[in-house]
Amino acid sequence: MKRSEMLARAQGRREAWDFIIIGGGATGVGVALDAAARGHRTLLLEQHDFGKGTSSRSTKLVHGGVRYLEQGNISLVMEALKERGLLRQNAPHLVSELPFIVPSYAWWEGPFYGIGLKVYQALSGKYGFGPSQLLSKEETLQRLPNIKPQGLRGGVIYFDGQFDDARLLINLVSTAAEQGATLVNYAQVTALTKDPEGLVNGVTARDLETGAEFSAAAPVVINATGPFTDAVRHLAEPSARAMITPSQGAHLVLDKSFLSGTTAIMVPHTRDGRVMFAIPWHGHTLIGTTDTPIEQPSLEPVPLAEEIEFMLDTAGLYLEKKPTRADILSLFAGIRPLVKSGGRKNTAALSRDHTLHIDRSGLFSITGGKWTTYRNMAEDCVNQAAILARVPERPCVTRELNIHGHHADAGRFGPLAVYGADAPFIQELIRADPALGEPLDPALPYCGAEVIWAVRAEMARSVEDVLARRTRALFLNARAAAAMAPRVAGLMARELGRDGLWETAQTQQFRDLARNYQVA
Ligand SMILES: Cc1cc2nc3c(=O)[nH]c(=O)nc-3n(C[C@H](O)[C@H](O)[C@H](O)COP(=O)(O)OP(=O)(O)OC[C@H]3O[C@@H](n4cnc5c(N)ncnc54)[C@H](O)[C@@H]3O)c2cc1C
Repeated sequence: MKRSEMLARAQGRREAWDFIIIGGGATGVGVALDAAARGHRTLLLEQHDFGKGTSSRSTKLVHGGVRYLEQGNISLVMEALKERGLLRQNAPHLVSELPFIVPSYAWWEGPFYGIGLKVYQALSGKYGFGPSQLLSKEETLQRLPNIKPQGLRGGVIYFDGQFDDARLLINLVSTAAEQGATLVNYAQVTALTKDPEGLVNGVTARDLETGAEFSAAAPVVINATGPFTDAVRHLAEPSARAMITPSQGAHLVLDKSFLSGTTAIMVPHTRDGRVMFAIPWHGHTLIGTTDTPIEQPSLEPVPLAEEIEFMLDTAGLYLEKKPTRADILSLFAGIRPLVKSGGRKNTAALSRDHTLHIDRSGLFSITGGKWTTYRNMAEDCVNQAAILARVPERPCVTRELNIHGHHADAGRFGPLAVYGADAPFIQELIRADPALGEPLDPALPYCGAEVIWAVRAEMARSVEDVLARRTRALFLNARAAAAMAPRVAGLMARELGRDGLWETAQTQQFRDLARNYQVA
């Protein structure tokens, strides 16, 4: 995947595309993959890097959502559980089964959650993961050696999926490209073009690296911009009624010692009625999340002080070692693109179902949903968009399509496991130049060869792309990531033919950004 080639294809095409997709998160890339795999001519434009928005900032769960079961949204849970099974089948290098324990401190919690989780398991049918069961206090402590033992009565174990969101997204971009889609990052849609009848028939976009503008035409333009859905709808109809209620969710990352086993904790009811997880992820402990309504979406949301306190307090109720602000290695926030529902104030109660919406201008928006259900959302979207675009209706083929990197035994690649079938290429870079195998920082497992690979094969353009989304350094340990920045900038400059000024500017920009991921 080369950005220069993708951009040349986007700028050079004189005929119309079948579909233009705005937004390179899980939703947009999923739609691009589905459309291209059906043989449609597909262009996707992303204003920043692929996954810069919500899709790199999730809780990293491929799940049906126990909470939605409690809300009675059985169809969403069933759909998500099926997609969970398909995703593990199609991307086994990135999606794995993870045991969760709901600890019980009151007599009624064990039987109550035990029944609920049996139902959850039953809903997954043939796509099931391991069976749920009641655990004694001793069994719970064996699996969760760091849980607070005082008052513990036992727990309920169940199984769900875990993944690396940004890595999956990059692999989906590669898969879509292999299926013939053209996908360009750092290409912002600045305007929508219309035909004489006022119907959207294309876009004007800006290559943010050069400032050059270009236009592209298609009978259907698909708006998959997540929290920015309304901003893009307003390009077509400035007076269109907003359909998104943005809600922020924050996470914090601690050292592995806070949750040293391989089992996650699920707290079904925090003091304000939310769900909270403590999850082992990439050798660290991930705590999250919150649900805070916000006024305006931004590309770089920052966790609020009260969100940080809430997560530390809640984690402290369950973990033997109570975490403090000084223990936070990284913190990050994402914005849920929830679809408005009447006058509801509590965003936690808003539906996670996806919505397809066609404005009077013909602009087609897809929003809501979950990372877990991106494939199903894409199938639904392309089915409808094909009718609107009057292109041949062809069946969806993504249910059994391997995602780039697919490897049944990626664990054998050790720290390179997330690359799946690509790992041998990175190993080859290290064999040719062993210095590229040295860790970039002692706190994290990332090495120089991954930087080279990210630039050559994964369209990484900036130090942030490499440290935030091709590797997950920024999300795991912001200080270590900032320390790695000059070395990463140097390696990238060599690959991209950039000079020392670029290196210095990139290092500085990244260090400024990394401050948002550290507690003050
Ligand atoms: C805190 C949190 C935790 C979550 N945890 C989970 C989880 O564990 N499991 C799960 O299944 N789901 C989870 N979700 C939900 C999931 O992350 C989202 O549903 C999904 O990532 C939304 O993807 P998207 O593509 O719609 O939006 P985004 O990822 O935000 O992508 C939209 C993209 O559009 C681009 N864009 C905007 N305007 C333009 C323009 N003018 N031109 C070009 N591009 C533009 C943006 O730059 C952005 O990259 C979570 C969500 C949050 C907020």
